[in-house]
Amino acid sequence: MNEIKQPKRPLVFYYLIVLAVMLLINGFILPMLAQQQIKEVDYGTFMEMTENSQIGEVEIRQNMILFTDKADPPQIYRTGLMDDAGLVERLHASGAKFSSQIIEQASPLASFILSWILPIAIFVILGQFLSRKMMDRAGGPGSMMFNMGKSNAKVYVKSSDGIKFSDVAGVDEAEENLKEIVEYLSDPHKYTEIGASMPKGVLLVGPPGTGKTMLAKAVAGEANVPFFSMSGSEFVEMFVGMGASKVRDLFKQAKEKAPCIVFIDEIDAIGQKRSGGQIGGNDEREQTLNQLLTEMDGFEGNTGVIILAATNRPESLDPALTRPGRFDRRVPVELPDLKGREAILKVHAKKIKTEPGIDYGAVARMASGASGAELANIVNEAALRAVRDGRKAASQRDMEESIETVIAGYQKKNAILSDKEKSIVAYHEIGHALVAAMQSHSAPVQKITIIPRTSGALGYTLQVDEGDHYLMSKEELENKIATFTGGRAAEELIFGSVTTGAANDIEQATKLARAMISRYGMSEFGMVAMETVTNQYLGGDTTLACSPQTQSKIDEMVVALVAKQYEKAMGILKENKAKLDELAHHLYEKETITGEEFMAILNA
Ligand code: ADP
Ligand code: ZN
Repeated sequence: MNEIKQPKRPLVFYYLIVLAVMLLINGFILPMLAQQQIKEVDYGTFMEMTENSQIGEVEIRQNMILFTDKADPPQIYRTGLMDDAGLVERLHASGAKFSSQIIEQASPLASFILSWILPIAIFVILGQFLSRKMMDRAGGPGSMMFNMGKSNAKVYVKSSDGIKFSDVAGVDEAEENLKEIVEYLSDPHKYTEIGASMPKGVLLVGPPGTGKTMLAKAVAGEANVPFFSMSGSEFVEMFVGMGASKVRDLFKQAKEKAPCIVFIDEIDAIGQKRSGGQIGGNDEREQTLNQLLTEMDGFEGNTGVIILAATNRPESLDPALTRPGRFDRRVPVELPDLKGREAILKVHAKKIKTEPGIDYGAVARMASGASGAELANIVNEAALRAVRDGRKAASQRDMEESIETVIAGYQKKNAILSDKEKSIVAYHEIGHALVAAMQSHSAPVQKITIIPRTSGALGYTLQVDEGDHYLMSKEELENKIATFTGGRAAEELIFGSVTTGAANDIEQATKLARAMISRYGMSEFGMVAMETVTNQYLGGDTTLACSPQTQSKIDEMVVALVAKQYEKAMGILKENKAKLDELAHHLYEKETITGEEFMAILNA
């Protein structure tokens, strides 16, 4: 976004001034003030005052004598030290008090004020002055000072890049949801006549890279209205007051340009739940959020400004944001299904040169779980591969190979496995595949490879679902766990020892087993949720919601469940040991085998 330049140089400049002022105070003014209080007198005067018993306190230092008179407040004098025998006796006789800290005693309050309160006060005053100035720069009230208010009228307008709904594939439901808004924006009259008002805010919720930004742009593009955009994370790093005034400015411009779309990406960055007790919490974030709420409440539903916001962490949003009259409409934008993936691949393939007759369905099938952004990346990688090979168009093979590149990292051509290692990896991977194939409910194997990847995987078994599963039965889940354990089981069966290669399998099997018990109600606990998912879209963090006793019971059950599936996998492998050997040797020789080859050998 082409924003106003933050006044970084001037800021440093002002802080330097403050520093200089403080140094000045400490180095010159303070000593000068202190000096004023001390009167330099000659030794004669000192002797005279001693004679006349005018001395209150006296301090004899190494090279001078400090003394005070008896006035209130006492005046401090200083005089040089002379060789004066009997001085002490005379002073004593005159009734002077011997002291050791005349200067410090002089006025502790004054010196405290001078050395502490004054500099801090100056600092605070200057700081406030500065922040006010910066708000002015950001176009807040009183921006006449820098005359920026008018000049940034176009700051937030971002073209919607002419994106239309046809550019966004595989998110039909979300599109359906947003069509009404497009209609409203293209002809607000139709709605205001009846007195209907649109929702002010719509929350696009879904994992990263599923096309939320694209959808927002497409709404603007379809309705042919201006598209204002900003990202929530931009505010967090700003100076106090900037975020709020930017929001103010954004809405001011949006209202002038209505009908229009305001898009706030990553709204969770500013819209997180406000935590009361947090000391020194992110003030900037809260101010920005408050300003946003104020702005949203401040305009009627029929002004023609529609706010779209995107987040992948809807559960972390402050409830104030999702209250009626704010972001009360929620549009899920999920990962694409098989058909959606095919459609997205086709949309992006139009932008590159491809060989005729590519089976996008097959490519989509292999890219199970990929997001729109990843699919776009896959198509681009395919084109790059073709160029690298000196061809004029990308082929289906290019696409399939790029899936692996995007999913598993680039092929690590120079990584050399020892023969023993290669053999272990071959058995490990065949172990997975064989266990999967022998359990009717597991997905068939698409491809097995023992070419190491930069991602660190030494080999992998690409399993492909025959379509998308929305429900999984207990049996299917158990089979999946058995498949995860199949690699390790094969290692143990053949080599009698185990390796570190199964770390990822173990993790996945454990996760599944735990979910079955604590979330899916597939254990003797029955339908009791022991865990709740707190972050559905990023990683799926869970929080335990049960007693420590139950927790340790769950742990035991997880162990038992995985152990049972491990036994099952081991049983399958023992029963089919001949096939295991044959397949593993074949894989060892060829390094990569397809699902068909695998099935052919298995069924031979
Ligand atoms: P999000 O905002 O959900 O993180 P974006 O809209 O920024 O995702 O998508 C990033 C890129 O991924 C887009 O520029 C586009 O190339 C591609 N993409 C994502 N989803 C889709 C989709 N549904 N159809 C076509 N392309 C998509
Ligand atoms: Zn494995």
